[in-house]
Order: sequence, then C-alpha cells, then structure tokens
Amino acid sequence: MKPPDRVAFCYTVSMKRYAISLLGLLLSLSLLTACDAGFRLNGTSQMTVEINTAFVDPLTSDPDAIVSGDVDITQTGTYTLTYTSTVNGKTKTLERLVEVVDTTAPVITLNGESHQATCAISRYVEDGFRAIDNGDGDVSALVTVVRESSRILYRVSDRSGNQVEVERTFDLTDNQAPILTLNGPDHIEMPKGGRYFEYGVTVNDDCTDPAKLSVKTIGNVNTKTLGEYQITYQVQDDSGHTAQRTRTILVVDKPVTTVYLTFDDGPHTNTRDVLDILKQYNAKATFFVVRRATKYNSYVTRAYNEGHTVALHSNTHNYWDIYASEEAYFEDLFLVQDYVYELTGHRSWILRFPGGSSNTVSDFNPGIMTYLTQEVQRRGFHYFDWSVSTGDGNSANPPQSIINRAIKYIKVGKSNVVLLHDGAGHNETVEALPAILDYLMSINAVLLPITMDTPQSHHHVQN
Ligand code: ZN
Repeated sequence: MKPPDRVAFCYTVSMKRYAISLLGLLLSLSLLTACDAGFRLNGTSQMTVEINTAFVDPLTSDPDAIVSGDVDITQTGTYTLTYTSTVNGKTKTLERLVEVVDTTAPVITLNGESHQATCAISRYVEDGFRAIDNGDGDVSALVTVVRESSRILYRVSDRSGNQVEVERTFDLTDNQAPILTLNGPDHIEMPKGGRYFEYGVTVNDDCTDPAKLSVKTIGNVNTKTLGEYQITYQVQDDSGHTAQRTRTILVVDKPVTTVYLTFDDGPHTNTRDVLDILKQYNAKATFFVVRRATKYNSYVTRAYNEGHTVALHSNTHNYWDIYASEEAYFEDLFLVQDYVYELTGHRSWILRFPGGSSNTVSDFNPGIMTYLTQEVQRRGFHYFDWSVSTGDGNSANPPQSIINRAIKYIKVGKSNVVLLHDGAGHNETVEALPAILDYLMSINAVLLPITMDTPQSHHHVQN
C-alpha cells in the first residue's frame, strides 16, 4: 500500500481536531508550517568556519536535496548554500549562510634561544625568525622588531587585523671572561745568559673596555740558570671574570740566533709595506727614522703602536751639515728626537749615526766621530751600528742578492744586527724581506726590537 502523503496526512489530522474554532484554525496553520519543515536544515542556518580549515556541510533532512552554492574556505566572506527538495512534484528550497572568518593571529617562531645572556642588547646579533599566518601564509617580512633595553619585541598582524607579539628576553649580565692572546710565541727557547724580551699580551673583553683592563704578569726568567720558566698573565674584567695565559721560556745551553732587523732612512710608503710583512710574521724590528714629508708620519706612529722600536737617525741626513761640528750634530739629533716624540709620545735615546760610527764621509772634520761616539754615550744615548750589511743601500742590488747576503752573513747562534733600508728607492728591500723572514723562521731565530737593554753593537771608529 502506498504511504499517505505527509503534508496531506498532517492536514487531515489537524482538521479533525480543530475544524470548528478560529483558534483551532490558527493552530492548525502553525502545525501545517511545522509539518512543511519536514524538509529542514541539519545544523544551523548560519555557520561560521575558520579560514583554511575543513568545512563539512551538515546538509538537510532530505538526502536527495540538491545543493547549490559553494564555500571558498581560503577566502574570508559570507557564502550562501541553497538546498532544493522536490517531493510529489512540489519543490521547496532552504538556505544556509556560511561565514568564513579569520580570527587566528600569525605564529612567530624565533630562531635561536628566546632567552639570551649578553652584557648589552646592542651586541646581540639577531638569530632570525619566521611568521606564518593561517590565512596570509608567510608574513615574516611584515614583522616589526623593536629593541628595548632588556628585550626584543617581534610584532605582526595579518590582513584581518589579528596581531601577535613575541619577545626575546635578555639576561644583561657579563657572562664572558676576557680573552687574553699572547703576543709573540707561547714557547721561547733562549740561550743561557741572554736577555729575555717580554712580548706582552693583547686583551679583549665583550663588556669592559680593554684599555681599562690591566694585565698582571707573574713570574720571571732567570737567564743565568738553565731550566724551564713560566710567565703567567692574568686579567679580570669589571664583573670579576678572569682569564689567564702562560708562556713557557726554556733557558738552554745551546746558542740561539738573535736577530735585530733594523730599517734606516724611512718613513716612506716602503715603511708601510715593511710593517705589513713584519705583521704577517709576528716579527718585531727597529726603525731608525729621518724627518720626512708629513704624509709619511702615520707610518712612524703605526710602527711604534705595533711594538717596533722607533729610534733616531737624523733630522736632515745631510752629512756635510751634521758632521760640521758637535753642536750641529746634537742640534740635528735633538730635532729628530723631538720628531719621534711628537709621533709616538716616547722620547727615544737609541740612535744610529748617518753612515754609521765607522763612516769616513765625515773625514772633512777630523776626529768628529771619535768625539761624538763618546759624547752621545755620556749624554745617555745608546748607539747601534750593524753586524750584517745586506747591501740593500745600493739600489742596483736586486732582491735575490739582498736575500743571499742576509743568509750568508747572519751568524747562527749569535746576536746579529741587520742593516736594511725602508726609505725611498728601496723597493728591493721590501721584495726581499719575506724570504729573509722565512729563512730566519727556519733557523728558529729570535727576532727582537732594540731596546735600552740590548747590548750595543759598535763598529771600529775610523775618524
Ligand atoms: Zn741613513
């Protein structure tokens, strides 16, 4: 048997019960409506769904209803779904509003630790971050970064105005000890009876200005007694962190080659090149300078600051003037002493006579060198000639000849003062220097700058 029509059935029942009264008529109409809703929405007629999340349509009570309309879950907006049901030739439609919303803020992910320790935020190097939004995708480029005194804030909003803020916090404490670096070698072999040269250390600290840190040097080297000695360097920063380095010095019973490289007649651009090379080899030397054009002054200051000895040669280097009289010589000497003092802040008492103490160019003033060599010492100066001439004073000599002479005349196991030139016209010296230094390293020579403690090396005076 065919089932009765749903709507017709409802109508019949209601008519039987409430056919007569007006109230009954009204009630029957309302029941009729309820019965019409036999085709009804599952779920609510207004739904909200978060952008880029799955939307499942709950459909209607009629599984055969036709659905039209579409919900784009990738775009915010209001979408209408229409359901059409046809029963016994009668068509009914229902609507549902679906709103795709964006209520979720982006997510910021910090690279590196979100809590850091440093003595100042300004020293922190950003580790980076990423911001991903459920609607907008990668919004890293839109993140604003604000550095405050003890934290960094990262903020970003998506197109829907959802904002997020994360922070990287900082422990503003000094957690790092100073860094001590030994100047010169950490192992030194030196001959019994030799003179220990203190290369010192360089100190760096992340929080305290290194210039304000004083390094304590502990220990000493007794070069009269064979054995192993240690010099310990200690430093403490403002936060109480300490650092320590040790240098070992072996006083041995075998001869060590000591070399004092000396450069005359600068400053010049050659001085700059010589300084660059010496730096590569961590070698210290002595510059006997002449007052030159002021554009070269900075090389004198640099030589001093890099631990070389800046000593006195001449103000004019004009033999006829300076050896004309004792007065003329000392006037010239004091002028170059002032020049060095102006550029280094250090008054030097170490000199080399122009032409050396053995020069004969001063013969026009008989006995002047005999007098001056005594008088400079009486006045507190130390003067240095040389034991090795590389021949570089003659610019006709090619670099290889300078190298060969250096290797031939430097005496292994002895103390050597080597004459070189860094003034104008001595490019060959610059070219020869790396090979000379390579050789000196190969024989384990100790390269030292001349100081007031260095044994003086004097020629035989000839005038
Ligand atoms: Zn000279």
